[in-house]
Amino acid sequence: MSSVLWLQGGACGGNTMSFLNAAEPTVIDLISDFGLDLVWHPSLSPQEGAQARALLQDCAQGTRPVDILVFEGSVIRGPDGRGTFNEFAGRPMQDWLRDLTAQAQVVVALGDCAAWGGLPATEPNPTDSTGLQFHRRVPGGFLGSGFRSRSGLPVVNVPGCPAHPDWITQILVALATGRAADIELDDLHRPKTFFTSFTHTGCSRNQYFEYKQSTLSFGDGTRQGCLFYEFGCRGPMTHSPCNRILWNRQSSKTRAGMPCIGCTEPEFPFFDLAPGTVFRTQKVAGVIPREVPEGSGHATYLAQAAASRVAAPPWSKKDMFVV
Ligand code: SF4
Ligand code: SF4
Repeated sequence: MSSVLWLQGGACGGNTMSFLNAAEPTVIDLISDFGLDLVWHPSLSPQEGAQARALLQDCAQGTRPVDILVFEGSVIRGPDGRGTFNEFAGRPMQDWLRDLTAQAQVVVALGDCAAWGGLPATEPNPTDSTGLQFHRRVPGGFLGSGFRSRSGLPVVNVPGCPAHPDWITQILVALATGRAADIELDDLHRPKTFFTSFTHTGCSRNQYFEYKQSTLSFGDGTRQGCLFYEFGCRGPMTHSPCNRILWNRQSSKTRAGMPCIGCTEPEFPFFDLAPGTVFRTQKVAGVIPREVPEGSGHATYLAQAAASRVAAPPWSKKDMFVV
């Protein structure tokens, strides 16, 4: 059995909702078949008040072991570093976190807010929110870049807004079955198995991206065409398996006609690029993309894009808006 303690900080609870929607395995399967002992969860556990506080105290003092500490939401340090904007069970949540992260075998930051600070940490950041081990892309965050849990791992970041149910359950199963050492992390501490490829990988609109043929049909999953130029799809710059591990086993944002807005990256929601909105067309002067797919040079990409447009076959232009 592996004990799991789940806490929430500056959070909307979206990752809990995602977790509860897990299908293969379900949350029940995790408990009955995969040996997860849910010590406490804010939405699932009956203990509250003094009971919950006593349970947390036992965990914080090490008298009740915590194998996996899952934290959802930002770490709220305000005001003035005291953390009292987010009191929980009689103490600032940041004080519980200091004690519990020192006891846990593995610490998992679930969702953008826990990993990087997320929406609560966008400027002007009135709650002084940050992530567990990163502030945006900068190592450090609440615990500091040198933090290692008792198992020797840094905080395992499973970002997303929210994270996909399968990313959550597969990581929990790997940890609960003693395979923590097999989880390879990238330089942002994300499991490589999920976050090495791009959202673009496996997108059903890829052949239109190749010929630079755009759709103008926002939100229309029945028409094709790429969402990069007109709707600022961040699929080629975002590390996620959303078109490999589908949502609800059948779709993704881009398949449904919604541009990827880059929710697994530390800069999300990219307000510095498009103040007040998560959308920004890629086009400058009607044609030139502001950003190019990760790894491409701007000039090289523009030359390739121009050649692709010339080479575009008629089928790729049917009912499309040609950029
Ligand atoms: S819609 Fe986005 S992810 Fe899909 S092919 Fe176009 S740029 Fe790539
Ligand atoms: S498609 Fe993009 S914005 Fe949507 S969940 Fe995946 S990574 Fe996040």
